[in-house]
Amino acid sequence: MPPDAFFSGDGLDRADHLRADPVAILALLCDAEARELVWDNGAPAIDEHGKLRWGPVVGDPPLLLGFNGHSPRFSSLPDGTATIDARAHFQLLSLLDAEDAPTFAAALSLANWHRRHGHCSVCGKSTEPNRGGWSRQCPSCGAEHYPRVDPVVIMLAEHDGRLLLGRQPHYPPGRYSALAGFVEPGESIEAAVARELKEEAGIAVANVRYLCSQPWPFPSSLMIGAHAEALADSLTIDTNELDDARWFSREEVVEALAGGPAATFQAPPHSAIARTLLEQWVDGLK
Ligand SMILES: [Zn+2]
Repeated sequence: MPPDAFFSGDGLDRADHLRADPVAILALLCDAEARELVWDNGAPAIDEHGKLRWGPVVGDPPLLLGFNGHSPRFSSLPDGTATIDARAHFQLLSLLDAEDAPTFAAALSLANWHRRHGHCSVCGKSTEPNRGGWSRQCPSCGAEHYPRVDPVVIMLAEHDGRLLLGRQPHYPPGRYSALAGFVEPGESIEAAVARELKEEAGIAVANVRYLCSQPWPFPSSLMIGAHAEALADSLTIDTNELDDARWFSREEVVEALAGGPAATFQAPPHSAIARTLLEQWVDGLK
C-alpha cells in the first residue's frame, strides 16, 4: 500500500472537553509533565532527528495543543511576524518526522491564525484567545471567532489510462503536479473539481470521486484529493495559472515516482498530497 498523505494522522489528543474549562487549563500549566513547543523563525522547531522540539512551560502560553499520553502540550504565539517563505516549505518538511507532522500543522496553522486575526470581524475591536486558543472572544461585542480552514480541491483527471498534470510558474524545472484550486462559497467538492479543470485545462469531467485529504498549514488549507474522468483529452490551458499541462501515461508516472533516468517529469515531493494521489493511482492499477 502507498503511504498516507503527509500531515494526515491523529497527532495529539486535542482535549476538546477541557477547552471550555480555564481552571483545568491553569492546573495543566503546573503539571510536571507539561511541555511547551519551541519555535524557530516563525515555524515549530525541528531537532536533528526530525522531531518537534519541546521545552519547559514558561509563563502562560495561550494555546493548549492537547496531550501526548499524560503530558499536556502548550504553545505560545511565536514572536514577530516571521512566516515561512513559500519556497522554504518543502525543504523544512523534508526534515520533519511524519509522526510529528500533524502536530506541526495544527500548531503552525493555529498560531498564524491568532497572529492574523487580532481584531473582531464584526466590530473591529481587539479580541483575546479563548478555549485554550481554539477560538478568540471579542470583549466588546461578545462575538466568538473560530480558526478558519480553507478547503482546496486537488485532482487527478484521467482519460484513456492517462493522467492530466500541470506546471505552475513557480515550480522547479521539470516538475508537474495535480491541478488544484480553492473551493468557493456555495460550491460542493465535486463542483469545484469540475470548475477548476474546466477553467485551467478546458476539459469537462464526470464521476468525481473523493480519494483522501491532507491539512496544509501554509497558512491553513485542507487539501481534498479527488479523481475525475475527463470526457475528452483536448486541452485549452489557462496560461495565467499554468505554464503547461499534459497527459501522462502510467509508465511515465511510475518512472517519475521512482526518479529514474527515463523520467519525463519530476514528481511532487513526499510531503505533497499530489504525490500520494499519484502513488495511490499507480498502486490501484496493479
Ligand atoms: Zn466584536
